[in-house]
Amino acid sequence: MALVVQKYGGTSIGSVERVRAVAERVVETQKKGNKVVVVLSAMSGETDKLINLAYQIAKYPKERELDMLMSTGEQVSIALLSMAIHELGYEARSMTGHQARILTNSEHTKAKILAIENKYIVKELDKGKVVIIAGFQGIDDRGEITTLGRGGSDLSGVALAASLKADICEIYTDVEGVFTADPNIVPEATKIPTISYDEMLELAGLGAKVLQTRSVEFAKRYGVTIHVRSSFSNEEGTLVTGEDEKMEGVLVRGVTCSKNEAKITILKVPDKPGIAAKIFSKISQANIMVDMIVQNISEKGITDISFTVPKIESARAMEVIKSVADELGIKDIKIDDKIAKLSAVGLGMRSHTGIASKMFSALADVGINILMISTSEIAISCAIDAKFSELGVRILHEVFELGQGKETLLA
Ligand code: ADP
Ligand code: ASP
Ligand code: MG
Repeated sequence: MALVVQKYGGTSIGSVERVRAVAERVVETQKKGNKVVVVLSAMSGETDKLINLAYQIAKYPKERELDMLMSTGEQVSIALLSMAIHELGYEARSMTGHQARILTNSEHTKAKILAIENKYIVKELDKGKVVIIAGFQGIDDRGEITTLGRGGSDLSGVALAASLKADICEIYTDVEGVFTADPNIVPEATKIPTISYDEMLELAGLGAKVLQTRSVEFAKRYGVTIHVRSSFSNEEGTLVTGEDEKMEGVLVRGVTCSKNEAKITILKVPDKPGIAAKIFSKISQANIMVDMIVQNISEKGITDISFTVPKIESARAMEVIKSVADELGIKDIKIDDKIAKLSAVGLGMRSHTGIASKMFSALADVGINILMISTSEIAISCAIDAKFSELGVRILHEVFELGQGKETLLA
């Protein structure tokens, strides 16, 4: 008998019909002799709707209240699925994060899971019930409801799979797996049968929202194999798992794009030692993550510094810089939130050169200007004008020959 964790995303339970279809899949899995734990997101669009309501009431709603509000979406889903399973004549029990004892720290809206006291879940499973758990939410040591960041139900699924030592963590979504690019942007993208944790981490962190980045980190740390697959078909999806030798042979695994960053440029800064240190230490003291950084060649003792920060934190970053502008001799600051970060990811980059130049030439050929560049061991990213993001993804997908059956292998 296997223990299976199945996480269903918003579109997979977006209507009453979809909830019924999920109930049938869950029951089928149990009938095959498995114990089944289901983790659910809110129905599609519901979390956005709730957030929208909050911001109609307050410009800066308190994060505790945001968590109180956002966590309700998942509660609707678990109750409905439980009812649908009962209608099929099977036993199921829904549980909130609190009831399932998903214990987190107190960082509202981006809480970290500290532990799961899984004995309540195990007890219900042993009674032959399907256990249905609200994703995205937990409880802190004061009994406050917390949420795990957008897309956080993936993390709930992986963490439950780790805690229960499940045989597999299935993430059901609206595409058939992880593709070489977002299939909604590049229709000829190829489904990747197996991908390493590290490649998936980079792809997710650089914009491929098919899995939440923190869920992949968690899966890597605890060795949870994730099977990303479609709730609309029975096709095999993508296994996210540890690295093997064959994977290193793939030069570019996929391309992705993120529009979640904004570029801040500080103009005419005095070009002398210590200025950059001061600017960036102020920003880091405000707990804002800086990503790409470029400093122009100095002319007449002054220079420009550009860097990117998460879009949602850009207003705060501007406030921080303005608050020290006089002290640092800063004359002018500009912000551009219409940028995108376009990236190519692949384990083969560790041992192979030439990817960057191929990427830059391909972008130049179609007239896409590169604003900034950053690299990691297995990824190269370029900041570009956001209006070219889809074109950029398609061009890179083509130049790295990622279309059906065209993986770029090392020579
Ligand atoms: P869910 O609601 O099931 O959590 P998400 O919307 O969070 O689903 O994630 C699925 C979406 O991720 C897909 O519809 C697709 O547009 C997008 N996506 C982005 N990059 C990729 C990729 N490389 N492979 C597959 N899907 C991707
Ligand atoms: N409902 C939450 C969100 O929309 C969590 C999730 O879907 O994973 O972010
Ligand atoms: Mg998601």
